[in-house]
Amino acid sequence: MLDFTADLPALTGGTLLLAPASPAPVQSLLLDSRRVGQAAGSAFFALRGPQHNGHRYLPELYRQGVRLFVVDRAEEIPDGLLAYPEAGFLLVEDALAALQAVAAAHRRRFRLPVLGITGSNGKTIVKEWLAQLLAPDELLCKSPRSYNSQVGVPLSVWELNTTHTLGIFEAGISERGEMARLAAVMQPTLGLFTNLGTAHDAGFRSPQEKVEEKMQLFRNVDTLFYCLDHDLIHAAARQHLPEYRTFTWSRQHPHLAHVAVTVAEASADRTVVRVSMARPLPQEHTFTLPFADEPSVENALHALSVLLWHQVPTADIQHRLDRLQPVAMRLEMKQALNDCYVLDDTYNNDLAGLSLALDALARQPRRGRRTLILSDVLESGLAGPELYARAAAQLATHGVDRLIGIGTEIRLHQLAFHDVELAFHDTTEDFLRHFRPDDFRHETILVKGARRFGFERIVAAFQQKIHGTVLEVNLDALAYNLNFYRRRLQPGTKLMVMVKAFAYGSGSAEVANLLQFHRADYLAVAYTDEGVDLRQQGISLPVMVMNPSPDAFQKLRQYHLEPEIYSFERLHDYLRAAQEQPLPAIHLKLDTGMRRLGFAEEDLPELVQLLRENAAHLRVASALTHLAGADEEQHNDFSRRQLAAFQRMAPVLEEALGYPIIKHALNSAGILRFPEAHFDMVRLGIGLYGVEASGREQDALQPVSTLRTTISQVKTLPPGETVGYGRRGQAADFERRIATLAIGYADGYDRRFGNGTGEVVIRGQRAPLIGNVCMDMCMADVTHIIGAQAGDTAEIFGPQLPLPELSTRIGTIPYELLTNVSERVKRVFVAE
Ligand SMILES: *Cc1c(COP(=O)(O)O)cnc(C)c1O
Repeated sequence: MLDFTADLPALTGGTLLLAPASPAPVQSLLLDSRRVGQAAGSAFFALRGPQHNGHRYLPELYRQGVRLFVVDRAEEIPDGLLAYPEAGFLLVEDALAALQAVAAAHRRRFRLPVLGITGSNGKTIVKEWLAQLLAPDELLCKSPRSYNSQVGVPLSVWELNTTHTLGIFEAGISERGEMARLAAVMQPTLGLFTNLGTAHDAGFRSPQEKVEEKMQLFRNVDTLFYCLDHDLIHAAARQHLPEYRTFTWSRQHPHLAHVAVTVAEASADRTVVRVSMARPLPQEHTFTLPFADEPSVENALHALSVLLWHQVPTADIQHRLDRLQPVAMRLEMKQALNDCYVLDDTYNNDLAGLSLALDALARQPRRGRRTLILSDVLESGLAGPELYARAAAQLATHGVDRLIGIGTEIRLHQLAFHDVELAFHDTTEDFLRHFRPDDFRHETILVKGARRFGFERIVAAFQQKIHGTVLEVNLDALAYNLNFYRRRLQPGTKLMVMVKAFAYGSGSAEVANLLQFHRADYLAVAYTDEGVDLRQQGISLPVMVMNPSPDAFQKLRQYHLEPEIYSFERLHDYLRAAQEQPLPAIHLKLDTGMRRLGFAEEDLPELVQLLRENAAHLRVASALTHLAGADEEQHNDFSRRQLAAFQRMAPVLEEALGYPIIKHALNSAGILRFPEAHFDMVRLGIGLYGVEASGREQDALQPVSTLRTTISQVKTLPPGETVGYGRRGQAADFERRIATLAIGYADGYDRRFGNGTGEVVIRGQRAPLIGNVCMDMCMADVTHIIGAQAGDTAEIFGPQLPLPELSTRIGTIPYELLTNVSERVKRVFVAE
C-alpha cells in the first residue's frame, strides 16, 4: 500500500508541510467531505472547480477524523496548520495532478490486462456489456456508471486490487491534452475505440484533431479493437500502431478486417449477423443480437469482437448475448402522470443519440400520441439549417406527433419541422412555468436534452403524480449509512455487507454496485443463485454464500463464490467435490449459542483433524458466529458468553490451519453495541437499509426506502355504511371520506394493518386504514384531510412513517416489512 509520508512526496513532487504522527498507509482517496467512510487511512485531495474549493472543507474533515491532506495552496488552509496538530499535510503544485499521480502509482502495482474504452458514443454501454459478457471468465474492476473524467478515471483505477483479473475503464475528454493524462493513470494494455459520431466538441479544431487526441489513450496497448468502417479511426490507428497490434471488424470491407460481419436478418427486436474470420483458423458463425437499433448493434459488435479475440467458445457467446441486459442509466422508462410514460434521456443530445432515443420511442407500444421534448442539438459540427433538417427527417421517420422544442437554436430553425404539432420555449424554466399536466394524457413522451438544459427537472415534473406503487431506494442515503457504520469500526476492520433477500428488498444489483464502488470488502447472500446473479451483473467483490446446496458446488467454482460450511455433512460433500477440482475457499460457521447452524465446541477436534488432512485442497477464508440477541440489552451476558466462546474456538482452527483466517461475529446492532468485538470483520445488514436494530441510534441513519402508492378514488360514506370485504370498516355516526389506495397484501402490505392498526401519510397527514386490506387495494379514512383526491400520493413507509414504528404496531420487525415488498412493486433508484 502507498504510504503518505514515504511515497506521496516523491510521486507528486510535493513537500510535506506537516508529517503525520506515524506511518500512514493511504487506503482511500477522498474528494468530498460528505463521503467520508472510514476516516483513518483516507487521503483528502483539495480539488478546485469553478464554484468549489476543497480547502474550505478541511476543518470539517479533520473533525470527522480525516488526517491526511493534499493541498495546493498553503495560504488557503483555514486557520493555518496549527489547527490540525495530528494531521499530515502535503503541499503540491496541483491537487488534481497529484491525485492522478497517486492513482497511476497504484495502477503500476498490478500486472493485469486493462481495457481502455473511448469514443464519442457508447463507451458506457460497451463497458457495461463487456462486463456482463465476460463475468463468467473474469473478476472485473470497472468504472462505476460513467466515471470517465479527469477525476473519475483515477477513482476508478484506485479500485484495482489483487483479486481482479481484468480492468475495464472508460475515458472521456473535452479538450486537447486531457487524454495523455488519463492514459498515464489508466495504463491500458488493451484498447477499444467505439466511434467518432457526428459530434464536434468545442474543444477541438477538427475531427482529425479529436481522433488524434483520443488515440493518445492507445499509444502503448498490445491490441486495439475498432470498427474499420470509421475511416478517421482507421487512418489514425494505421498511423500509430502496426497492424498486428489491432483487431478489427467491418461490415463494409470484409477482406480487410479480422472479423467480417454481414447482417443476415434484421427484425423489429433482433439482428442476426454472420461473422467470418480467417484466423486463427478459417471459421464462420451466426449470432443473434437481441437488438435492432443501429447504435446498439454497433455496440454489441464491438463487444462481440472482444469475445471472439478472447476465444470464448462460440456456443457460450450466443448464450451470453441472449442474456444481455440493456443499460438502464441512459434511457429510462418511467411511469408518469395522466397515464403517460416518460422515456428519460436527459444525458446528452447529439444527432446519433437522438436517433437512438427515437428508435427506443418507436419500439414502445403505441398508447396515444408520441411527444418529443427536445433541447438544442449540440456537438453536431453541422450548420443550423442542415442540422435541424436532419433532426426533422428523423422525427418524421419515427412517427413523432408533437414536438416541444426548448432552446433558442431549435426555435430559430422551427421551419425545418413539418407535419407535427409544434411548441417552443427559450429555456427549461420557461417550459416549467407554463407546464400544465392536463396537456399530457395517455401518451409516450421522450425527454431528450443536452445535460446543461437540466431536463431532469422536466422528468421530475411529470413524475410528481406517478401512479401505482413504487419502492423508492435512495442510493445516497445508503452510502451515508454505510459510511456511518464505517466510521464506527476499529481501524483495519473489514466490512462484509449482507445483500441476501434481494438486498433486504432493495434490489441486489444496484445495491451491490454501489457497495463495490464504495469498496466494501465482502458481500454475503443466502443462496448460490443470488451470488450468480451478482456475478452476471458484473460484481467482482468476494461473495460468501450462506446456504449453498451440494448440487450447486460447480456453480460456486464457476462464479468464484465462497460457501459457508456449517456441518460435517456439508464439509464431506465439499471435500469430495474439491478432490476432483479445486473449489473456492470456505467460511466455517461456529455455533456459540444461536443453535441454528454451525459447528459446536465439542465438534472442534474432529473438525481440526479434517482440516489438517485436507489442507492441500481446501482453503479456509474465515470463521464466523452469529449472536442470538445482539440488539437487546437483556441478552448482553449471553452475547458476551457467545463472543467468549468464539474467541476460544476460532484460534483453535487458525492454529490447526497454520495461516491467518478472518474472524467475524457481529451484525448491525452488534457493531454499535460491542465495539470491542469487531475482530477482523463485521457483517452489516439492516443498518445499511436505514434501520438501527438496537433502536439507540436510529436518528443517526437516513431512511433508504420509501414505499409509496396513489389514491385511486375518494368516496363519501354515509353514517352506518361499511367498507370492503367482510363489511369490517364502519362509518360510525357521521359521514366519512374514504380513499381507496392502489396497494394490497399482494404488494407486500400486511393484512394486519387493516381496521385502524395501520396508517398512511397523505398530504403530510396521517390517515388510519379502515376495513380489511384486500389483495390489490386498501382503504384509508381521509375525512380530516382537506383536499385529498384521486391521484394523490400516499406514503406507506418512509421518512414520515418509520419502519420501526410500523413493525411494532403489527408485532413484527422492520426486516419483515422490508423484505415483504413484493417483486411486482417497481423499484426506482434515486441518487444525487
Ligand atoms: C442477516 C445476517 C446478518 C446481518 O444482520 P442484521 O441484523 O441485518 O445486521 C449478519 N450475519 C448473518 C449470519 C446473517 O444471516
